[in-house]
Amino acid sequence: MAAEGNGVCSDFDTIVIGAGIQGSYAAYHLCKNSKTLLIEQFTLPHSRGSSHGQTRIIRKSYFKAYYTQMMTECYQLWKQLEDEANVEIFRQTGLLVLGKEGNPEFQTMKSTLVENKIPMESLTSEEFSRRFPVVNLPEEESAILDKSAGILYADRALKALQDLFRRFGGTICDGEKVVDIQPGSLVTVTTTARIYRAKSLVITAGPWTNKLLNQLRLQLPLKTLRIVVCYWKEKVPGTYGIHKGFPCFLRILDSVQHHIYGLPSNEYPGLMKICYHSGSDADPDERDILFQQPSEDVNLLSNFLSKEFPGLDLKPAIVESCMYTVTPDQDFILDRHPEHSNIIIGAGFSGHGFKLAPVVGKVLCELSAGKTPSYDLSPFRMRRFQPNFKSLL
Ligand SMILES: Cc1cc2nc3c(=O)[nH]c(=O)nc-3n(C[C@H](O)[C@H](O)[C@H](O)COP(=O)(O)OP(=O)(O)OC[C@H]3O[C@@H](n4cnc5c(N)ncnc54)[C@H](O)[C@@H]3O)c2cc1C
Repeated sequence: MAAEGNGVCSDFDTIVIGAGIQGSYAAYHLCKNSKTLLIEQFTLPHSRGSSHGQTRIIRKSYFKAYYTQMMTECYQLWKQLEDEANVEIFRQTGLLVLGKEGNPEFQTMKSTLVENKIPMESLTSEEFSRRFPVVNLPEEESAILDKSAGILYADRALKALQDLFRRFGGTICDGEKVVDIQPGSLVTVTTTARIYRAKSLVITAGPWTNKLLNQLRLQLPLKTLRIVVCYWKEKVPGTYGIHKGFPCFLRILDSVQHHIYGLPSNEYPGLMKICYHSGSDADPDERDILFQQPSEDVNLLSNFLSKEFPGLDLKPAIVESCMYTVTPDQDFILDRHPEHSNIIIGAGFSGHGFKLAPVVGKVLCELSAGKTPSYDLSPFRMRRFQPNFKSLL
């Protein structure tokens, strides 16, 4: 990497800050047409952000149809990544969506699947008990099966993407924290190691987004949450196993604010991953300092499992941590900086962004290259927060 006389490196057209799944996918798309640098504060791989861990759910069931529509291309791009990297990233398992017929979220998910002709089945509680006798679904509840859903092997995907990015000519500088950003027709990015200058900048800093944007006089309405990732032991190993064809599930409960989701036992033999889709406020740099066990979320899960998953122990065998960065409407932010059009921001993935990263990365790449984005970005613009958006400095 060449530095000019003033010590500034100007080798790159585009700089991406943050090598989580969104920044890595954006960099992968960018490097096909421009010289791209991906900067990461931690030495890779790391487990301090939102993209680490072995698995994520991929599904087309959404109650906002624009995500269902984006998922068609996401599946194609995940497949392309598998082929280019020659690794298995996607495993089809299906996804059970469980809830009351009268629940608006359940209803809209069902109608979105039907309207978009996504392969699915509706199961009555009797059919459900026959096919899934290891789950006690209360009588008044229903189930739909999104057949195309499954598991993404997250750590594997991230590594594949970063390896390909390098193979296609991209440069990764990890272990370098960005400490200053100076906007301009050329953006100057200072890290703990060096100073870089490029025509455009993409910021995908996950839970650290607002810390970085502070330097650009911008604050977004983002909440950062610490999520407990729990693995529960099967009383009889394999009861809810991937090899027995047990699917992922998403349980919509009227009694709690957010849903509960689970994946068949797979990554740790004999343990099923079941989590609550929310957590407690936490600064990403202090994620583990106030960690108390058992937390309220673990108790909530344990109480749910005692009623509906009789084949699991009621204490988690493993508890890991991860971060969500949540917007008020749980929609992403994919937009330009309001004053600096060559600075693009991808943030607020609200605990559901992994599966959508191929298209998120593509759209961030298009914005950065000044092209018309392939998707309608109105649900993802910063402007939607404007009416009571005090935090824009
Ligand atoms: C427990 C859990 C379960 C989830 N399950 C699902 C699921 O089933 N399906 C799904 O689709 N999604 C799921 N998600 C959501 C998904 O994982 C996230 O939306 C996605 O990983 C967000 O990626 P990101 O790149 O925005 O953030 P991150 O992965 O946090 O990446 C941001 C990166 O920026 C770096 N960075 C920050 N500041 C700086 C700086 N100053 N200098 C340099 N680098 C910096 C960070 O170190 C980090 O590596 C889940 C998330 C969690 C936590």
